Amino acid sequence: ATPTALMVGVGRGAQLGILVKGPDALEASRRVDTVVLDKTGTVTSGRMTVTGVRPVGGRTAEEVLRAAAAVEAASEHPIAVAVVARISGELPEVTDFRALPGLGAAGAVDGVRVFVGRARLLTEEGVPVPPQVEADVAAAESEGVTVVLVACDGEVAGLLLVRDEVKPSAAEAVRALHAMGLKTVLLTGDNEVTARAVAAEVGIEDVRAGVLPAEKAEVIEQLRASGHRVAMVGDGINDAPAPATADLGLGIARGTDIALRAAGLILVRDDLRVVPDALSLAHRTLGTIR
Ligand code: ADP
Ligand code: MG
Repeated sequence: ATPTALMVGVGRGAQLGILVKGPDALEASRRVDTVVLDKTGTVTSGRMTVTGVRPVGGRTAEEVLRAAAAVEAASEHPIAVAVVARISGELPEVTDFRALPGLGAAGAVDGVRVFVGRARLLTEEGVPVPPQVEADVAAAESEGVTVVLVACDGEVAGLLLVRDEVKPSAAEAVRALHAMGLKTVLLTGDNEVTARAVAAEVGIEDVRAGVLPAEKAEVIEQLRASGHRVAMVGDGINDAPAPATADLGLGIARGTDIALRAAGLILVRDDLRVVPDALSLAHRTLGTIR
């Protein structure tokens, strides 16, 4: 495209709430045929709420919540924010905090080792997950909730049920992308059952669930290797490497934090309908002007 056409594209983008970062982003957006959407914070609001606490093994709901919240206070994950919001008053101090991206968090609370996260985290850390707990997790997940396990002192102490809401703009955005002839994929570290429930709600058929943050880039690579031109839409929270691997990265900016480090398109409005707008921007400007 000519410099003038690019300038027009950038200007038109700004009016629509799209920041064009890097001269190649508009050109790349024209060639994309597949749009990969991150689930948490992108398709869903990312503002989660704890809707249930189920203690296991004789602990009280209060004990389970306090131990979990003490650890999560040191984490920035949307689940962590929801857990901490459920507690009033002062939290016990946490030491040896570790964030385990895509799995959960760990720390010591009053000398007790606490894990908060997926069953896979507990298993990897040598905490047994009894069959009854596994069954409870599966039953809750089939209703579209994310289940967070809390382990204290080497055993499961309870389950936290966490809910997120699909953004009101998501289904309409997906319909618009399909109408443009684009393929959509939902990518998430969350479990398959919860992810499918969200995908069904917005009309996405291709779901890649249980993907660790570090593996998200590999999913993009595979799609590219099979001949697709891929745009990745994320909020940049722990999915940082994936957009950089895509042909085009789209970052949703909330408030002042603009997560997209590589070149790409930054969507200034937290409204998924900007995604089809952004992808057709180059067609509408470069396509007609040159
Ligand atoms: P997404 O791909 O949807 O953004 P993440 O990769 O951030 O999901 O996390 C994947 C899963 O790992 C979550 O659904 C949750 O089960 C677990 N998880 C990650 N971080 C935390 C945390 N701080 N507390 C509890 N669970 C967590
Ligand atoms: Mg995420």
